[in-house]
Amino acid sequence: MNIPAKAYHFAQTIYQEYPDNQGVAFSSKETFIAQQLLHQQSQLSAEHRQAILNGNSQRQLSAFIQLQAKNLGIESGLIDGFWGPQTDYTFRALEHLKEHGYMPPLWRDFVAPASNPNNWPGSAENELIAFYGQPGDESQLVFVNLPYEMRLAWDTNTRLSRLRCHNKVAHSVSQALSGVLAHYGQAEIRRLRLDLFGGCYNYRRMRGGSAWSTHAWGIALDFDPDRNQLSWGRDKATFAKAGYDKWWEIWENEGWTSLGRTKNYDWMHVQATR
Ligand SMILES: [Zn+2]
Repeated sequence: MNIPAKAYHFAQTIYQEYPDNQGVAFSSKETFIAQQLLHQQSQLSAEHRQAILNGNSQRQLSAFIQLQAKNLGIESGLIDGFWGPQTDYTFRALEHLKEHGYMPPLWRDFVAPASNPNNWPGSAENELIAFYGQPGDESQLVFVNLPYEMRLAWDTNTRLSRLRCHNKVAHSVSQALSGVLAHYGQAEIRRLRLDLFGGCYNYRRMRGGSAWSTHAWGIALDFDPDRNQLSWGRDKATFAKAGYDKWWEIWENEGWTSLGRTKNYDWMHVQATR
């Protein structure tokens, strides 16, 4: 993901407005950012600290923006200096806060549901490991029979009658999809492209980031990725449209979280975390 031009302007403004009360003059925005990162290095992800401090100006700018947001109480994820969807979201919130003095409202007045009947853990890595075990542990995976036939999103001639996920979410996946079938029916499921499966278990890091993806535990599902691309917001993503409200309610009643509904990116994705 590219760093947006606005992020450079944002850093430039912070640099120009910085109270130079210790007689320190910075020769450039880049020097300023490098100094700030050095002073606040304890806040950087331990795993990425050296790479950030020795990194190029883009890596440093990304970490600087993440740090600015964190210092203002905006959830920034890991301070790793990678510009991915989470940092993009964080930056938009940061801009809004600087401009208006308050945090942006959630999209469509969406409020995260209290319902968590399966007691899913929070999305921090330590909570995930405590509940689900280590990422990539295939001994935890089981097959779930699908209540309606799905097609592989990238090869729609391949039909699926089951999918593989973490044993702790298997029953809930089955419940949710049965609810989807009961509500929409087969024909509507096809028309809405709810049968286009984009993957579940995948032992990988987050795109554009360094943290483990929830796919690495088999606790996240993707649907219709072509029309709900990772960086798209509700203005473009199909699953943000009104016809999909019930789809999301069904997952949310099982305690699952939509990154689209809560953060307005990655609308293809739903995960069994709070
Ligand atoms: Zn996903």
